Amino acid sequence: MNATRVCTRCVMDPSASDITFDAAGVCSYCTDFLARLEKIRRSVGESQARVDDFIARVKAEGRGKDYDCIVGVSGGVDSSYALLLAVERGLRPLAVHLDNGWNSELATHNITNLVTGLGVDLYTHVIDWEENRDLQRSFFAAHVVDIELLMDNAMYALNYKQAAKQGLRWILGGTNLATEGMHMPPGWNHYKFDERNIRRIQARFGTHRIKTHPLMSTTDYLWWEYVRHVRWVSFLDYFPYDKFQALDRLQKECGYKPYPYKHYESVFTRFYQAYILPRKFGCDKRRTHLATLVASGQMTRADAMAMLETPPYPDPQQEKDDREFVIKKLGFTDETFGAYMQAPPVPHASYGTEEPLYRAALRLNRWLKTTFAARAFFSSRSSFRHRTRWPLNGRSVWRARCWGATPGCTSSAWTPTNSTRPTSITRSDATCSTTRASCASRRRPC
Ligand SMILES: [Zn+2]
Repeated sequence: MNATRVCTRCVMDPSASDITFDAAGVCSYCTDFLARLEKIRRSVGESQARVDDFIARVKAEGRGKDYDCIVGVSGGVDSSYALLLAVERGLRPLAVHLDNGWNSELATHNITNLVTGLGVDLYTHVIDWEENRDLQRSFFAAHVVDIELLMDNAMYALNYKQAAKQGLRWILGGTNLATEGMHMPPGWNHYKFDERNIRRIQARFGTHRIKTHPLMSTTDYLWWEYVRHVRWVSFLDYFPYDKFQALDRLQKECGYKPYPYKHYESVFTRFYQAYILPRKFGCDKRRTHLATLVASGQMTRADAMAMLETPPYPDPQQEKDDREFVIKKLGFTDETFGAYMQAPPVPHASYGTEEPLYRAALRLNRWLKTTFAARAFFSSRSSFRHRTRWPLNGRSVWRARCWGATPGCTSSAWTPTNSTRPTSITRSDATCSTTRASCASRRRPC
């Protein structure tokens, strides 16, 4: 494979070890991403009522409480825009922010302006710096790729715990398909609910016990999501999300100031993504972020290629300043940090991981859904209506399947989207227009 080959549609290249190209030079990454994006866009285009239903449900469940939902904010564009949209739609969110000691001045400025301008309460959890520094030093000593696992894992833990504390079910995240939906290549990051990995690395290399640092395991995630029914929602996927339009609105309405690249709101993340990852681990995360924007039509391929030609640090002086700042703040010397950069990477799994447990849970969930859906479908053919309770998502919904569907037709109508039992479902109610159209040409029209 040609090492300089770049996808003819996006900007991914063989630095993603499992990439494949078709005869036209289009890569597997953007092909897979566009298939998933198309699904999301179809659902957005088909039903704006879906957004209204969701907002109404969050409002109804927040009645009598101080807030309707949690919105985690980092100071980045995606989470800031999620907060703006939540307020615009009449929700009463509690903004939750995790301060791990690495916020840039710009991030602090953006968060303050945002919550003040929108009139939203902000809960900030400040991580114990000595403990966090020791954990970060342990991850350096372990030579694993995802040092940001510490921050991401803590951020998830904090949001779920705050939601439970406030008695809320909904966490609206800035996570979204339109700007970050292309999956990370193998070896560029690590599974995020891996408390075991964090504890094992700290036990081997650390000098402090973990006492206050928020942590989240796979079983915690399953507990929150499927037993306590606290749900993390990729809120921006409910809207036709365009990053540059969002940025424009944030600048005009909230005095927001942009960063040169995604996730550069934290000094450590900036240094990690622009210096450590490309030089020690051979990956430039800008490539997947820009490829996503190109594939989703938010940026031209030529502009993205031009950006990738520039160094990850837009300013050499800032690179020098950040290097000195990070080395000093983490208690390294030039020599010890230089030796770290020269040493080979070590996989996270060498220290113990919960990832196989998560994959097994996913397989079980898929099997249960398939089994229960099949049973519900066959039982519905005699009663014409049925209630399907997905075993692990904790929601009951009334589902009416197109009665006239020929074998192989999978179209269905959801009536309604909440858990209220419908008083009656007529044959026409249960037959969605898509189904009717698709069945019309078949032997058993609806
Ligand atoms: Zn591509």
